[in-house]
Amino acid sequence: MFGKILVAVDGSEHAYKALDVAADLAEKYGASLLVVHVVMQHAIPSYFEGLAVEKAEQLFRSLGSEIAEKIFAECEARQCNRNLSSMSTAVAEGEPARAITNLAKTEAVDLIAMGTRGLTGIQDLLIGSVAHKVNILSHCPVITVK
Ligand code: ATP
Ligand code: MG
Repeated sequence: MFGKILVAVDGSEHAYKALDVAADLAEKYGASLLVVHVVMQHAIPSYFEGLAVEKAEQLFRSLGSEIAEKIFAECEARQCNRNLSSMSTAVAEGEPARAITNLAKTEAVDLIAMGTRGLTGIQDLLIGSVAHKVNILSHCPVITVK
């Protein structure tokens, strides 16, 4: 049923729980696992051109990839005892829900796993905005993990 599973990770414990569920399913189905982190874009208004805009953007980009690498290393450490057929990683850029669902489509993913909440959520909310939007935009089933 599931040949390829995408799990979205933002560095939160919620997302690592989703990774655990996704890895467990991948093991059982013999599916490949794609771990994705989306680096947010920091748009700096164009009227600040001439200031250190380019430098700042470069800095944000390299900070983003460093964060992604750290998260991926943590994912690998947490799942190293599993017998996965394949676990790969991808960094995307932009608005997280759109980036996750676009990648899921181009990679022909069968299932998306993610936390119900993430790093920045308000405690009272049942589900975070990224999880909510991925459920709306996704072409495939989505599991949100508490
Ligand atoms: P909000 O961001 O709406 O303030 P939140 O941070 O609690 O609230 P979400 O951002 O919706 O909730 O997080 C839910 C799940 O979405 C996370 O557990 C993670 O699986 C995924 N997610 C969120 N942001 C990213 C990201 N930048 N890259 C990859 N996955 C993400
Ligand atoms: Mg969030």
